[in-house]
Amino acid sequence: MKNNSINFKRQVTIKLADVKLQSALSRLQSRFVEGRAAVISEISDFEETRTAAAAIRDRVLNDLEHWLMHFEQQATARGAIVHWAETGADVNRIVAEIAVQHGVRTAAKSKSMVSEECGLNDALELAGVTVMETDLGEYILQLAHEAPSHIVAPVVHKNKEEISDLFAEKHQLPRKTGIAELCREAREILRPAFLNADMGISGANFLVAETGSALIVTNEGNGRLVTTLPRVHVAITGIEKVVPTLEDVTTLLRLLPRSATGQSITNYVSVLTGNKNKDDHDGPEHFHIILLDNGRSSLVGSEMQEMLRCIRCGACMNHCPVYQNIGGHAYGWVYPGPMGSILTPLLGGLEKSPDLPNASTLCGACAVVCPVKIPLPDLLRKLREKQMERGMKSRRETFMLKAWAWLALHPPVYALATKFGVRAMSLLGGKNKLLHTLPGASGWTDGRDFPAPEGLTFREIYQRRNRQ
Ligand code: SF4
Repeated sequence: MKNNSINFKRQVTIKLADVKLQSALSRLQSRFVEGRAAVISEISDFEETRTAAAAIRDRVLNDLEHWLMHFEQQATARGAIVHWAETGADVNRIVAEIAVQHGVRTAAKSKSMVSEECGLNDALELAGVTVMETDLGEYILQLAHEAPSHIVAPVVHKNKEEISDLFAEKHQLPRKTGIAELCREAREILRPAFLNADMGISGANFLVAETGSALIVTNEGNGRLVTTLPRVHVAITGIEKVVPTLEDVTTLLRLLPRSATGQSITNYVSVLTGNKNKDDHDGPEHFHIILLDNGRSSLVGSEMQEMLRCIRCGACMNHCPVYQNIGGHAYGWVYPGPMGSILTPLLGGLEKSPDLPNASTLCGACAVVCPVKIPLPDLLRKLREKQMERGMKSRRETFMLKAWAWLALHPPVYALATKFGVRAMSLLGGKNKLLHTLPGASGWTDGRDFPAPEGLTFREIYQRRNRQ
């Protein structure tokens, strides 16, 4: 997928004015935020489990090469073939080569954000392989020629009516309006794709080093069909997804579905180990696992390493007030929300995504809900510091920040400046106590009024209360 995050601000303006999108995004609250809150109360040791999960991820990342080698050895011993891809283009080339090697003409694919990262579908179509997305959300997007807008619920930006119209147009069948009817229609079209595909393509939520397994969690069952029916299975994932043992996976599985969809467990958890043996009833004859770097290894040992703990649950975006208002497409690449505001500049280049580290109020909600305790606001702040160091901030912003830093280092002057500042703002706020414009902060006041302060600074109010 092409990185379009350079146009973030323009996209935000468009998305904020999109009435259908705003209505679709309002469902995030009930579907994910409230769902997560309800289900995490089921386990009394949720916080301890988060700490344990973060420790598991750190243990791997601190010795990533060792665990990857261990994984490759175990996977190979069980009949899988492990490929190493430095870039997305390498992934596309390897999959195309596997397709040629096995005479593949059609592929059925389950959801994989890494394949979106590589633009795999377009590359395979160019290589003469017809690809069918089989995750319902991804299938809808394939019909609509759109990119996912959420890493767990890729079609969250569309409402039911839009999907009804799309199906009627593309399937050339009478328009259905019920969710069950729409699902049945999609199922009838997708079923032959599973049965006829020469190749199945999936992602992997985790790679288990001790068994050489790729593990996927899904709700629709398409993942299981894609990985067992076609004679060739290709699993594509990032190098950071390795986990030492199955026991470690059980810890992470206590958190992933709860944080992602508010479920205690997904409908399917598939552990895929090796290719089909002569005694097996099903499974692929050829099992290829492609491990993508694409800049991830450069984060190992850096001050940004904690980002590699991510298990792609989507909780940070579900709880982010910025994502809740603009949706995922505005971010311009595969990964939206707070995790995307960090990953996109890290993997694609800070210069290409200058607005993303600033697409956050730093309210901290993302860090509170992250199941592997990634300090997302701290990482965003570090990226902002890098922008300052590289001279990527405008002269005005640099001046404002330097002026604020100088004031903060001179408390008496700070007290005096804020004393006059709040009194002036209070006067300008008039009877309604609202400021319609603020010099230097039109980004705020163009879309909303700024509440004028009462006329006293925080310090003055605090001192008064203490005296009382
Ligand atoms: S950063 Fe944390 S909350 Fe966000 S997707 Fe990754 S694991 Fe989930």
